[in-house]
Amino acid sequence: MLTPVSYRVFARKYRPQKFEEVIGQEHITRTLQNAIKGSRLAQAYLFVGPRGVGKTSTARILAKALNCLNGPTDNPCGTCDACIEIAEGRSLDVMEIDGASNNSVESIRTLRENAAYAPARGPYKVYLIDEVHMLTTAAFNALLKTLEEPPEHVKFLFATTEAQKVPATILSRCQRFDLRRLTPELIAGHLLYIAKEEKVALDPAAADAIARGADGALRDAESMFDQVIAFCGTTITASDVQMVFGFTPRETVISLTAALLARNTPSALALVRDQAEAGKDLSRLLAELVSLLRDVLIAKAHPATVEQTEEGRLGESISQEKLLVLLDHFGESEGRMRWATDKKLQLDVALIKGVHLLEETSLSDVIDALAALRGGAPLPDRPITKVTASAAVPKPAFIASPKKELPVIEEESNEEAKKEALKKAVKEDENNALAFKAETVPTLFMGDEIAVGPATTEPEEQAASTAAPTSDPWHTVAMLLASESPLKFGWLEDGHFLEIEGDRLIVEFPPSLEAQTQTLFWIQAVKKIEALLSTDLGKKISLECRFSGAEPPAPEPMPEPVPPPRAKPSEKAAPTPASSSSASNPKTPTPEPPPEISAEELEAFKNDPLIKKALEIFKAEILTGEKSPGA
Ligand SMILES: [Zn+2]
Repeated sequence: MLTPVSYRVFARKYRPQKFEEVIGQEHITRTLQNAIKGSRLAQAYLFVGPRGVGKTSTARILAKALNCLNGPTDNPCGTCDACIEIAEGRSLDVMEIDGASNNSVESIRTLRENAAYAPARGPYKVYLIDEVHMLTTAAFNALLKTLEEPPEHVKFLFATTEAQKVPATILSRCQRFDLRRLTPELIAGHLLYIAKEEKVALDPAAADAIARGADGALRDAESMFDQVIAFCGTTITASDVQMVFGFTPRETVISLTAALLARNTPSALALVRDQAEAGKDLSRLLAELVSLLRDVLIAKAHPATVEQTEEGRLGESISQEKLLVLLDHFGESEGRMRWATDKKLQLDVALIKGVHLLEETSLSDVIDALAALRGGAPLPDRPITKVTASAAVPKPAFIASPKKELPVIEEESNEEAKKEALKKAVKEDENNALAFKAETVPTLFMGDEIAVGPATTEPEEQAASTAAPTSDPWHTVAMLLASESPLKFGWLEDGHFLEIEGDRLIVEFPPSLEAQTQTLFWIQAVKKIEALLSTDLGKKISLECRFSGAEPPAPEPMPEPVPPPRAKPSEKAAPTPASSSSASNPKTPTPEPPPEISAEELEAFKNDPLIKKALEIFKAEILTGEKSPGA
C-alpha cells in the first residue's frame, strides 16, 4: 500500500535560508550583512522587485539574522530555536502580514498596539508586511505614526512589486533595496543544481528553455520545473519543455526572424501557421521574436562578436535604423496581441507590416547611396530597398557619361583596383595622389553643380592640405577616407595630428565637429580608421579624438561652376581610356571630354527620386551654368 509522502514543491524546498543562498542579489545581501556587522540597522527596510526574485526570502533571512539566538549576526545559524521558528512561520517575534488581505486601518492599529510590547524571546520585534502597496490610505496613515517614532525594539520589513503605489511619506522613512530580475543563465544554473540534488536528468537546453520562459522570476522557473517533472518523469529534454508549455523552439524563432529580414513573407507566414496548428502560444512567439531582434541589435553594437553568433549573422543584412523601426513596430503589436481574439491574424498582419517597413527607404540608405555615387565607394553590402536600388545602380553610368556605352559591371569591378591604387599612391606621393584622385573619382552632376554645404572640399583647402608633412600618420588616413566618401569622412581632414602616446594616436578637432561622432557611422568608422593606422604604423593603434582645436575659417562662397564645353558628336563616340589604365600613370591625366546632356536626360535626372530626396535632405537646389542645356 502506498503511504502518503509529504512532498514540498521546489520553490519551498529550495527557498534560500542564508544570505549566501539568495541568487543574483549580491548587491543587497552584502549591504545587509555589512549593516548588521557594523550595527548600523535602519528602522524600516523596503524590498522592491518583480515577483519571484527573492524579496520575502531576503526579508525572512534578515529577520533571522536579527533574532538568531547567536545573533544579531550576518550569518544566521538556521539551527537554533529562533531560526527554526522563523523559517516555519510560527515565531512570536516575527509577524508576517499580507498587505493584500490585512489592508484595513484596524489591522494596522492592532499592529501598533502590539508593537509597544517587548519581544518575547529575541532582541527585536519584526513586522514583515508583504505587498505593502495594497494598504489603504487610512492604514498607511496609521502606519506612518509608528514609523515616525518606532520603539527601539521594532523593525519593519516591507516588500512590494509596485513601489510607486507606496506613499512618499512611507518611502522616505525606509531604506530601499531594488531586487533584480534574474538572468536566464543564473536561473538555468540554479535549475541544474536542483536537478542534481533531485537526481533528475535535466538537459541544459531544457534548463535554458525553462529559464527563458520564466522571464527573470526564479520562483516561476522552479514551479515550471516541478510541472515538467510531473509530466515527463526524471529525464527531461528541451522538446519536453516546449511541449508542456507551448514554447516555440529557438531554432524556429531564428528561422522566423531570418524569413522576416529576408522579406520572405510566404515562408514567415507558413512558419506561423505551423506553430498555430501545433498549438503553440503565439503571444510568446511574438515576445521571443522581439527578444531576438533586440539581441540582433545588441550584437550589431559589438561588431567583434558578429561572426560568432546567430544574432550577429542575422544582423549582417540589416541596418540598426531598420532594426529600431522593427522593434518599435513589433513592440506595439505585442500590446495589441494581448487583447486580440484571433492571435494568428494579429501575428500575420504584424509580420506583413514588418516586411513593408523593411522595404521603405530610410535616410541612411539614401546617404549611403549618395556617398557611393559621389565618392566612387562601392554600394553598401546590405540589400538596399527597391526604390534606392533601382535608382542608384544605373546612376554612375549616366553621370559619368563618357563611359555610357560600357557595361556598369566593368566599372564596379574596377572599384577595388582603383582603391588599392589610390591607397598606394597616397603613401608614395601625396601630390600625385591628389591629381590622380581628381581624375579618377567620377564627377557628379556634370555641367550642373549641386550645393552640398559642409561636405564639399574647397580647392584652396585641398592645396593647403597637401602642404602637411608626410610624417603625419593621421593626414594620410584622413585623406584616403575623405576621398573614398566625402559625405561620411570629409570632416576628418579638419583634424590635426597631435602625438602618439603609447598605442593611442591623438587627433585634435574643432569643437564644432564633435557632433560627427554621434552618428551611426562612427562606431564602424573608428574601427576602419584604427585598422588603417595600425597597418601604416605597424602596431596596434587606438584613436583618441579631442575637440579642443581652433575652428576653421568660414569657407569662401562657392565659385560659379564653369559650364562644360559642348562635345562634338565624333568625340563622344571615340573610345575613352578605362579609368584603371590611368591609375598606372597618375602624373599625366588625360582630360576626358565632358558629355553632352540632352534636355530630356536632364529632366529625367531632376525627376529621379534619389536626386529629389537628396535635394530635400540637404535643402539644396540644382544650379545650372549659363550655357547648360537645361537653363
Ligand atoms: Zn539561529
